[in-house]
Amino acid sequence: MEKKVDVLIIGGGPAAIVTAVTVRKYYPDKEIQVVKDIEKGVIPCGIPYMFASLKDPEENELGSAPFEKNNVDVAIAKAVKIDRDKKTVEMEDSGSYRYEKLVLAVGSTPVVPPIPGIDRRGVYHIYKDMEYLKKCVEEVKKLKNILIIGGGFIGVEFADELSKIDGLNVYLVEVLPRLLANSFDPEFSGLVETKLRSKGVNVLTGTCVKEFTGGERVEKVILSDGGEIDVDGVMLGIGAVPNIKLASDASLDQGRGKGIWVDEYMRTSDPDIFAVGDCAGKRDFYTRKDAAVMLASTATAEARIAGANLYRLKVVRENKGTIAIYSTYIDGLVLGSAGLTEGSAKKEGFEIMTGSVEGMDKHPATLPGASKVKVKLIFSRQSGIILGGQVAGGMSCGEMINLIGVAVQKRMSYTELETLQMATHPYLTGAPTVYPIVLAAQNAGGNP
Ligand SMILES: Cc1cc2nc3c(=O)[nH]c(=O)nc-3n(C[C@H](O)[C@H](O)[C@H](O)COP(=O)(O)OP(=O)(O)OC[C@H]3O[C@@H](n4cnc5c(N)ncnc54)[C@H](O)[C@@H]3O)c2cc1C
Repeated sequence: MEKKVDVLIIGGGPAAIVTAVTVRKYYPDKEIQVVKDIEKGVIPCGIPYMFASLKDPEENELGSAPFEKNNVDVAIAKAVKIDRDKKTVEMEDSGSYRYEKLVLAVGSTPVVPPIPGIDRRGVYHIYKDMEYLKKCVEEVKKLKNILIIGGGFIGVEFADELSKIDGLNVYLVEVLPRLLANSFDPEFSGLVETKLRSKGVNVLTGTCVKEFTGGERVEKVILSDGGEIDVDGVMLGIGAVPNIKLASDASLDQGRGKGIWVDEYMRTSDPDIFAVGDCAGKRDFYTRKDAAVMLASTATAEARIAGANLYRLKVVRENKGTIAIYSTYIDGLVLGSAGLTEGSAKKEGFEIMTGSVEGMDKHPATLPGASKVKVKLIFSRQSGIILGGQVAGGMSCGEMINLIGVAVQKRMSYTELETLQMATHPYLTGAPTVYPIVLAAQNAGGNP
């Protein structure tokens, strides 16, 4: 049976939800159909917290309220084939949809590295599926020794969270010499390592896993330095690859990166097919090089661009590339990064100047709940334009990095940041006399 719809969205994650809501806003009369292959999804960013912080993993369900509120039809099915000439999409079991506009929001799948023994039981993958994750949570809570592979933000968040489970010994292995190495300079990633060690996490950097041994179930991990660790569980947190099969089978172009090629308005090489979120190719904000950045915040920004521009280029809302902005939280320590780090800017060949400062997020600093804040800003030396920034400290850093993100997107100069007008209040911010972002910009300016 074939159903005719105006807008067909494949996927059920953040990109699909925000596309549907945005299409409804800009094209109120269109019939919108979402097709997703997982009945009960999860809020992806909340996955680590299903293991200890949330009382019940079900609390992390990705609800369907936005679809209901916006009169969007939802079907549970797996899309398997796009026929671009007929403008139809075939489902795995039966039936198909005919569309005017198709949006691919099919996301990504966790990387499974070719390590011998990886298919043993007790090696957990992070699939965004409630039923699968509930079983993982139940099993992990009974383990004695778990090893997490990957010291990126997913790995460190899992290490923090699993260290809260009584009687569970946590190991974190990262092949690079330090944690969060792709998005933070050493003085920031060092803070994470110290924090995790203080929580009893065994952090092993500059090391990789060579083999998983055991019977049906994993029992031991063999490391590249010859070391061996007895484990009864392993969590893989080493990234994800975009789901491009539907698109590549339909001969849609791929970029030089791993995702589906899209233009500034999220249109693929077929003008009636858009791609958004993890499955869509990303380009770096400064260099336009392909960038392997997959974040929910980027996915939703792309979905807003596609949703508004589906039928006509209604709003000039083009995708200027990813600034790779994100924040993470490890037991009270907040870290945020936006744009280039000092290391990545130098590697790209930028001539830079940097400014750093340590301050407090309340004034006077003796007010209850005040936390230290560390800010680093990176600027182009000649033009003085901001290239990136990092923050670490208390809860206020979660929004402070968003302010830096706006500065990056608007290509602000250090003089503009030095003369920033900001709201300050003793309980809410650092003092206006020593506001950390202003001071960091000032320090960079005095340091060309
Ligand atoms: C543990 C973890 C923590 C994270 N934390 C953060 C964070 O704090 N901040 C942040 O910004 N990002 C975070 N991310 C990244 C974020 O989860 C992704 O960037 C985001 O989920 C991308 O959304 P999406 O809708 O593009 O794809 P997905 O969330 O992957 O959704 C795609 C959906 O499409 C469905 N689908 C795929 N193929 C088909 C098909 N053929 N037919 C029908 N349906 C299909 C999939 O089953 C899935 O439900 C985290 C990721 C993980 C794994």
